[in-house]
Amino acid sequence: MSHTRVPGAAHWPAAASRPELSVIVPAFNEGENIDALIGKLVPVLEECVASFEILFVDDGSSDDTLDRITRFAEADSRIRALRFSRNFGKEIALAAGLDHAEGDAVALIDADLQHPPEILKTFVARWREGYEMVYGQRIDRSTDGPFRRWLTERFYRLFRKFGEIPLPEGAGDFRLMDRKVVMALRKLGERARFSKGLYAWVGFRSVGVPFEVQERLHGTSKWGLQKLTRFAFDGLSSFSTLPLKLATYLGVGISIFAITYALAIALRTLVWGSDVPGFPTLVISVMFFSGIQLVFLGIIGEYIGRIFAEVKRRPLYIVAEEIGGEPTEQAEATPVPIRATPRARANP
Ligand code: UDP
Ligand code: MG
Repeated sequence: MSHTRVPGAAHWPAAASRPELSVIVPAFNEGENIDALIGKLVPVLEECVASFEILFVDDGSSDDTLDRITRFAEADSRIRALRFSRNFGKEIALAAGLDHAEGDAVALIDADLQHPPEILKTFVARWREGYEMVYGQRIDRSTDGPFRRWLTERFYRLFRKFGEIPLPEGAGDFRLMDRKVVMALRKLGERARFSKGLYAWVGFRSVGVPFEVQERLHGTSKWGLQKLTRFAFDGLSSFSTLPLKLATYLGVGISIFAITYALAIALRTLVWGSDVPGFPTLVISVMFFSGIQLVFLGIIGEYIGRIFAEVKRRPLYIVAEEIGGEPTEQAEATPVPIRATPRARANP
């Protein structure tokens, strides 16, 4: 397959069957959007790359998402899909996509057309200039509600201050990565996937491309407040130990206060003698300090829970089925056996 490579970009041994670009689309109940997405994506890709594959990751959809993808995959071998055995979440769907993508570059795009496919042309152009990571930068977040915007802003501010690595402003999952970056990401086996942090953590020559987030074509966002909060905590706790340090800081602060208070009381007793009142202060301080202790036990518990999840070493996801594409021998890339063979069963 002939396509021009970037001077200075990585030269991976070119596999005869490797497409120039893989586009990963995580899809969870996106049936209504599949036709429109493929309709827009295919012409864009045909225009800007020599060859491509579109790899859907069906994240346990319960609607006709998979049927629709299958129909396209049967007609076009450049379209293929992985079906998860259940819903694992977008972050994990992306991880699976990265594990299975074969392109020299890999792009990630949402199924709901909030990420305009035309921008991929700019992504590819920047990649050909030699950038290893090209990320879409949201110009405004007006498609999110005001409350979600406020929370997002708080979160980024917190992360910038206390996270291990700076996150670029407005960068999300809409991006294109060179195969080198994908290889680096595949080595990160974390369970709590905060991919924005992981993308920043692996580094590489990166550049942002501004784009305007579109309205969702059909359906509603699958991120409730609870999921977002969890996600934010995942992000902070995988890239910072600040919540743990807070306990130390607060403990020191309160101890200093307690010592001062004790000295003041001792002094007062010496001068004016002792008095009985003080019961409310006692009750309040007991309650206050047990509350603080519980909060920090909880925070420590969160970290222990994460450590537990990591040490269990469960596979990140389970692929129930692979659909479409040309038959390849890429099974070694699959972290879990698709079907349990008698031999696999004999080895618990
Ligand atoms: N998605 C997924 N699994 C999930 C939730 C979402 O694969 O559990 C996909 C979804 O189909 C879409 C993308 O992730 O392609 C972004 O999801 P959504 O539009 O709900 O999020 P938002 O745009 O509000 O951040
Ligand atoms: Mg969306």
